[in-house]
Amino acid sequence: MTSRLDEARAALRKTFGYDDFRPGQDEVIGAVLDGTDVFAVMPTGSGKSMTYQLPALVEDGLTVVVSPLIALMHDQVQQMRAFGIPAATLNSTVAETESRETWRRIRSGALRLLFVSPERLLMEGCMEALRGSGVRRLAVDEAHCVSQWGHDFRPEYREIARARDALGNVQVLALTATADAATRAEIAERLFPAGRAPQIFVHSFDRPNIRLTFAPKDNPTRQIERFLRHRRSESGIIYCSSRKRTEQLAETLRNDGFNALPYHAGLDQGTRMKNQDTFLQEDGVVMAATIAFGMGINKPDVRFVCHADMPNNIEGYYQEIGRAGRDGLPADTLTLYGLDDMALRRRQIDEKDVGDDRRRVERRKLEAMIALCEGATCRRQSLLAYFGEASAPCGRCDLCRGGVQLVDGTVSAQKVLSAIVRTGQRFGAAYICDVVHGKESEQIRRNGHGQLKTFGVGADKPVAAWRAILRQLFAAGAVAENTDGYGGLSMTEKGEAILFGREPIQLRPDPEPRPETRERRRSPAARDDEALALSEADEALFQHLRGLRATIARAEGIAAFMVFPDRTLVEMARQKPVDLWALRAIHGVGERKREAYGERFAAAIAEFLNDRPKGSAASSGP
Ligand code: ADP
Ligand code: ZN
Repeated sequence: MTSRLDEARAALRKTFGYDDFRPGQDEVIGAVLDGTDVFAVMPTGSGKSMTYQLPALVEDGLTVVVSPLIALMHDQVQQMRAFGIPAATLNSTVAETESRETWRRIRSGALRLLFVSPERLLMEGCMEALRGSGVRRLAVDEAHCVSQWGHDFRPEYREIARARDALGNVQVLALTATADAATRAEIAERLFPAGRAPQIFVHSFDRPNIRLTFAPKDNPTRQIERFLRHRRSESGIIYCSSRKRTEQLAETLRNDGFNALPYHAGLDQGTRMKNQDTFLQEDGVVMAATIAFGMGINKPDVRFVCHADMPNNIEGYYQEIGRAGRDGLPADTLTLYGLDDMALRRRQIDEKDVGDDRRRVERRKLEAMIALCEGATCRRQSLLAYFGEASAPCGRCDLCRGGVQLVDGTVSAQKVLSAIVRTGQRFGAAYICDVVHGKESEQIRRNGHGQLKTFGVGADKPVAAWRAILRQLFAAGAVAENTDGYGGLSMTEKGEAILFGREPIQLRPDPEPRPETRERRRSPAARDDEALALSEADEALFQHLRGLRATIARAEGIAAFMVFPDRTLVEMARQKPVDLWALRAIHGVGERKREAYGERFAAAIAEFLNDRPKGSAASSGP
């Protein structure tokens, strides 16, 4: 007897060409097929979408997928169609004739997946028409948008419950990648009917293929250029905190020969859409963007995510880096942070027009982010701990590789605190560090601070080391920024306790590790880069297949990865299937895609193999 889950597994192989479920998918899909309400918290890249896609494929009836971004629905529909699954979207950008056709397919029962925004779903006409059209379930993507304690609150999400009831109390499947306990409770309460508790699944937040690296800012543009040096043909995102910076950075990188584009909410709609499409469809595009870019970005082969400025909170950070490596292949991240970021964020929160509760929540989230930046133990372990998961050190993050051991930093801290106090608690970090190190700037001379007892007490360390110490004092709450808006620093109560020797403080040893200069070859990470590594000959075949993929994608007006993802091309380059039969064994080659593209890829491989030894023109080929 085959269970329905076995049926779903068979469809996974046949339609998608994937060997088996990813961890957690089977449980969730099993529950969905049982018809109960389901609430699943699974990390980005774990394949959440599959938990509504497969049930929609193996069962009759319509699944309505609610998701927050209209811009991405078209993409999701194209992806489903590439796999041969009947899907459509209704939104204001869809032409009238196309909408009519979609409604016809809904009524005839031919359509399986309908993507809509909550606003659209709630329009009177839409609900009216959907009622009695065989809606089997409501899948709510990015479910944390319903919570005002989350970081992406969308008031319209609050109305989804109304649609659920109007559609006849259909089954609900809520999905999210980030939710702390408060957010989870709110999702459970707002999306599911009272008295009908959903089955809840919380899956590991671990994304072992993503390598975490943090570095204090010294020269951010140079640091980013160094990070990108070996990533010429890879796609990636660089998050910046200001619009202007995205444009500057994109230009700098273009001058370096990268295919880099800016993205922020201030660009006109046309440019924004064009840049997003280029990023989605072409290989090797670097997007310099504000966090307006990326929610739900469905590109599996993003190979790196870099934060040019410190992220606002850990949820945001996790979600942003989670856009890398969704195909499960190794991906890299680099997060830059500085004292200026920390101070700016604190100020922004203080000035925000929100209630005290909310302010407290945001402050706590910011403190956690700062602690992660200034941490001294495994980044992944700290990150997972934040989401309530215990884990062992990862062995691959900058701290695991750099092995930081905290040292007693009380004396150094006292030197800095003393400089702050003796200069009147009104100067910024740069000034204070110059005083400690003994660098007499024009301003220091004018203020007579060259005469202070503290001046030059730290001549033994470079200015950069003093800045690192000051940043850690700030992170530890021993130093705070003045509220007058001039960026001056003052000592807190905790700082006083340290200055007067009542409390010791542990600091990272200086100089700080520079992850970029560290030898990488012998690190454990090298092992899993093998997933993408190819011999020279196979690399040539891979590039050849990439060319074919680009040609097909252009002709069909779809993204390259929708033809086949990188991982599929890597496997083809290694295993060299030259006929449709051999192609069956390759990851990501399902029935529909084999039919559509199989011949051409098999022929291209055969041709490549024939060519190589002779180095002459092919005798076979399409
Ligand atoms: P998310 O959890 O972030 O929503 P997606 O649903 O977008 O992730 O899936 C990420 C990628 O993983 C997609 O390209 C999807 O087709 C692929 N995927 C999903 N399930 C599997 C599986 N069982 N085996 C291999 N790849 C999978
Ligand atoms: Zn680690």
